[in-house]
Amino acid sequence: MRILGELGEDVIEIARKITNEGSICDHCLGRQIAKISSGLSNEQRGKILKEVLREKEGELKEGKCWVCNGLFEHLEYWVSKALEKLKDYEFDSFLVGTKVSGLLLENEELLWEIAGASYAEPLKAELNREVGKRIEHETGKIVDFKLPDLVVILNLWTETVELQVKAVFIYGRYRKLKRGISQTRWLCRECRGKGCERCDFTGKMYPESVEELISDSLREEFQGEEMVLHGCGREDIDARMLGSGRPFVVELKEPRRRNVDLRMAEEKVNEEKRGKVEVRDLRYVNREMVAKIKNAKMDKTYRIEVELKTKVLEEEVKNALERLSGALIEQRTPTRVLHRRADLVRKRNVHSARLVSIEEQNAVMEIKCGAGLYIKELISGDEGRTKPSFSEVLGVEAEVKELDVLDVDLDIEVEDVVNREAVR
Ligand SMILES: [Zn+2]
Ligand SMILES: [Zn+2]
Repeated sequence: MRILGELGEDVIEIARKITNEGSICDHCLGRQIAKISSGLSNEQRGKILKEVLREKEGELKEGKCWVCNGLFEHLEYWVSKALEKLKDYEFDSFLVGTKVSGLLLENEELLWEIAGASYAEPLKAELNREVGKRIEHETGKIVDFKLPDLVVILNLWTETVELQVKAVFIYGRYRKLKRGISQTRWLCRECRGKGCERCDFTGKMYPESVEELISDSLREEFQGEEMVLHGCGREDIDARMLGSGRPFVVELKEPRRRNVDLRMAEEKVNEEKRGKVEVRDLRYVNREMVAKIKNAKMDKTYRIEVELKTKVLEEEVKNALERLSGALIEQRTPTRVLHRRADLVRKRNVHSARLVSIEEQNAVMEIKCGAGLYIKELISGDEGRTKPSFSEVLGVEAEVKELDVLDVDLDIEVEDVVNREAVR
């Protein structure tokens, strides 16, 4: 036998010591010399070693393996347990992991004391691979070491199979058509979510959020446990988000489905949340996209309805906006956000400003500005903290009555995850 020459006396000696200790299965014997020869499974290595030993010194002890306690003879038990769990989930790739019990860890240590561990592979590596191969065979899905959709954990302590499910990330843009909707769930300040009189026992500051409205429909499609919305900035609660919408990424946690037709999902959201929220341009993306949109700088276009405290000629309003167009604004942190931001002077750009209409003391204007400009203060001047301001340039007190965001210009590329359908 050619393999015998390759194995050498030291390997035979290892095998002799182990088999003298008690009966051992092919898997456990073979994995003790896993690092010596390649191209064979541990089971095959074990079989060959046993043949060699039998030739040299007669029959070996028979019975349940003293190292794995018969684990490898009952692989099907774990495979079927895993398949039972997996049947509720849609996935393309997976990985198997094992939590080894104390008894088996002790056996393993004992084994290494007897035979040395220089060529050995741990029990869990063998179990992960063998169960993985069988699941691949049964399901046609592939083992992925890097970024599997599912991690199947064989818990030998509790004799159960646990699943870790990779979240699905979806990029899109939302339009908020109604005022008074917050971007994300906002816990009641008073009770921190427990429910009290102030919040009418909802635990929330505002009854509705874009996050919850979208989540309702999407969680149903993906059969996920939870959905989190990461917005690319946020508009005020009383501002609508119109135009092309605001970029966002949603994270769907523990989804049972992950190959949802996004055009259909989009229609479902828009149908169910008509008049409140709309989504568009939904695409599968990677987790990295969350940080990207969080850090993105974007220009914004606002439609603003402004109340002028004194009657002013249309020409004067036009001139004031003309002067703001292209101006560099020095903006000290607005008083209304001082409680959460450092008191600094920031320089921000107004790219363009134009009057849309004016009626009595109500002016409607469109202003496009760079990232981070507080628009309400650009109009009012915030008692001199924002300079120049519309109010200052016009020489008349002015206040924002209503605000809509018309456009958000994103300065990053959105990379699609490779189309899943195309891979198959
Ligand atoms: Zn064994
Ligand atoms: Zn409350």
